[in-house]
Amino acid sequence: MSRQSLTRENTFFIRTFGCQMNRHDSEHIAGVLASAGYSPAESADDADILIFNTCCVRQSAEDRVWGNLASLASPDRRPRVVAVTGCMAERHRVAVMERASAVDLVFGMDSLERLPSLLEASLDGALCDLGEVENAAIDRLPASREGGARAWVPVSHGCDNRCAYCVVPSVRGRQRSRAPEDIVSEVARLSADGVLEVVLLGQNVNSYGRDLPAPAGFAGLLEKVASVDGIRRVKFETSHPRDLSRDILEVMASVPQACEYLHLPVQSGSDRVLEAMNRGYSRDYYIEEAARARSMVPGLTLTTDVIVGFPGETDEDFAATLELVRRVAFDAAYIFLYSPRVGTTAAALADEVPQQVKHRRYEQLAGAQDAQTERSLGAMVSTVQEVLLEGPAKRGGMLRSRTRGNRVVLLPGSTPAGPILDVLITGAGRHALRGVVADGKVEAS
Ligand code: SAM
Ligand code: SF4
Repeated sequence: MSRQSLTRENTFFIRTFGCQMNRHDSEHIAGVLASAGYSPAESADDADILIFNTCCVRQSAEDRVWGNLASLASPDRRPRVVAVTGCMAERHRVAVMERASAVDLVFGMDSLERLPSLLEASLDGALCDLGEVENAAIDRLPASREGGARAWVPVSHGCDNRCAYCVVPSVRGRQRSRAPEDIVSEVARLSADGVLEVVLLGQNVNSYGRDLPAPAGFAGLLEKVASVDGIRRVKFETSHPRDLSRDILEVMASVPQACEYLHLPVQSGSDRVLEAMNRGYSRDYYIEEAARARSMVPGLTLTTDVIVGFPGETDEDFAATLELVRRVAFDAAYIFLYSPRVGTTAAALADEVPQQVKHRRYEQLAGAQDAQTERSLGAMVSTVQEVLLEGPAKRGGMLRSRTRGNRVVLLPGSTPAGPILDVLITGAGRHALRGVVADGKVEAS
């Protein structure tokens, strides 16, 4: 006999792990469930339907999800339906349910349109539906956006690169670019709804369009999006150093809506390691690209990702990374301990770096970058920055906003609603700035 059906009184809660792309996918999950009549719960404990949108880029991200799922094993803590989606669903498929008995449904993003009926069907027995990666229709589905005047807009899904350490291509499939006209119409709709800033998302935005029937380039797309009526700021992530062409930097330099923000992951400063990672550029090439970006785009905020402890990374290789990070003087960097991922070419490499060596290198690199981040933030004190208000900060009754360079600026809770304001930067913390509205000047939207 089937259990009692789900009704419109049932609520849902989504726990999202991982990158901005996942956070945006969660906006679509929420949109589909809201359209089916379900409402969001205040917390996971109050929800009838609990959805985990997962990440498997590093083992630590997976471990957090397994831990969360294990804590749901006791019957008195269980919501009516527990569902898992995202990268772990694509990677482990039905095995998610074998390992975590609390899970009723594993679904892929390409099955999202069917989510309401899948949830219902899962009441009669655990289900796995991963859909077809090739026909992603997710961008056409409703979205409950979290960003107020800022919105994420994917330009492509999947990735055609084969970085030796990375599991993304095997779980997200090959690059599938969206048609430029679909992206532009979505941005126009967002603008009509009051969005002022769009963040274009893709694993490698610079290779956007190569897979389209009429190949299109990212620079052209950036210009088109920037010219949509009402759009004041356009940012994008992530850029691949090998594919960052001059015309993209020219658009950033010449189109006022294109923000002075570039996230350009370097991953390593050693030629030997870059080659083993299959990144397709050398250390010198990267340094030149970074310098060119800084000289062409005045006021650029340049950020990066670095992996420490890639198999075979010697003290010399690490010293080259440290030197590059110091030399380029990134405004911020995300530093990761290498995490072996089954199925990637790096996972088969011998010569793993001992855990304590990885940690020591991590600390050293993070220390050098923290000092640089502090200098970069400190240099902004007493300047006036244009920020976009995002909403309440996590702590202290403050409001959170972002500069054109994507720096977080905390403002007093009493700051009048912007959404775009000029603020005077009054202080710098380790990762964020503090500010107040400059001269009481508030720009209307
Ligand atoms: N496509 C983007 C790129 O090329 O940079 C982002 C990919 S990934 C989701 C984000 C970051 O995670 C990467 O830039 C890399 O530094 C890190 N990463 C990916 N695989 C990793 C692994 N196996 N171990 C540690 N860090 C990893
Ligand atoms: Fe992974 Fe490399 Fe693709 Fe980024 S560019 S998603 S690191 S394979």
